[in-house]
Amino acid sequence: MAKRKLNRRQNWRIQKIQDERAERAKRRESRIQDQLNTSELGPEEEGLVIAHYGVQLDIERPSEPGSLYRCHLRANLPALVTGDRIIWRPGKDDIGVVVAQLPRESELCRPDNHGRIKPVAANIDYIVLVVAPVPTAHANLIDRYLVAAEAINIEPVLLLNKTDLINDSNRDRLLELMATYRDLGYQVLTASTKAEHGLDTIKKLLKGHTSVFVGQSGVGKSSLVNVLLPGIQAKVGELSEQTGKGMHTTTAARLFHFPEGGSLIDSPGIREFGLWHMESEDVINGFREFREFLGYCRFRDCNHEQEPGCALLQALEEGKIEQKRMDSYRQILNSIGEL
Ligand code: GDP
Ligand code: ZN
Repeated sequence: MAKRKLNRRQNWRIQKIQDERAERAKRRESRIQDQLNTSELGPEEEGLVIAHYGVQLDIERPSEPGSLYRCHLRANLPALVTGDRIIWRPGKDDIGVVVAQLPRESELCRPDNHGRIKPVAANIDYIVLVVAPVPTAHANLIDRYLVAAEAINIEPVLLLNKTDLINDSNRDRLLELMATYRDLGYQVLTASTKAEHGLDTIKKLLKGHTSVFVGQSGVGKSSLVNVLLPGIQAKVGELSEQTGKGMHTTTAARLFHFPEGGSLIDSPGIREFGLWHMESEDVINGFREFREFLGYCRFRDCNHEQEPGCALLQALEEGKIEQKRMDSYRQILNSIGEL
């Protein structure tokens, strides 16, 4: 947006809005302080952040899955996100106050509207990358998601959906694609929400873990969510609808429990995870089979293009690295403007 010079009246209005906001925050904090000082609140206990709405959070009591307590946040706490484990004190009428944040095991981040990288979900075990015969599963896009998952140390799982669309014209290509990732040590699952194939295996994997579903539009993420979370349809719809109306930012995320166990954190923003800028170091480290060769090139600043004594090029020649993964690495690096 072009910078405009604000006139005095506009400046005054902005100042007024900021003052009012600060005043509201002060009043809120003093109300919370009053509650904490009187015996209105119960003892401290652990909780799970199910969703957040600005200064308010929905907290679940882990011993009571499905319970929801609308909680305020003490002003001295960092921004909490869906999936965070916290310490809170319950109050009357299903409300409460969050008093502390517990350490995060993992963090999923994405740029906000101003391009600042911010966490949007925490404590995720699996990034389930959904691909399909249609729209075509391109290795390069798969690699891009894998690199992003590797960079934050969350295990990616590849899920080929719509297996009912596998036919003579795409079978060989898809089998080869899946074999490549299996050989690299990734878990690869297959499913069809239409033919109800593979769903039990997915349920078993997700049980006891917190996952997110990511992938290109049209691969069947919503369909999968709907079969794995019966009755949630409305809520999923609601989520994107609210985003459309601007009630939530695209990063608003919510945690759902699968009936068989395990949780899903979902939001339109999370589904696009990984498709933004990353550093060149993240890119090379995200190709997991490259790692054992890194640091062995003759030149410390080797670009692994045509330099003599390049350990990566030698691995390529010896068949320890696949040509298409090398191509993919170069393409991703290129796309972030580092080559
Ligand atoms: P999303 O954009 O990833 O959430 O994808 P959707 O769940 O909206 O699905 C996109 C399209 O694929 C819809 O028309 C679905 O009916 C269709 N679809 C989803 N799963 C399957 C499947 O297993 N087989 C087939 N043939 N189509 C599917
Ligand atoms: Zn090299």
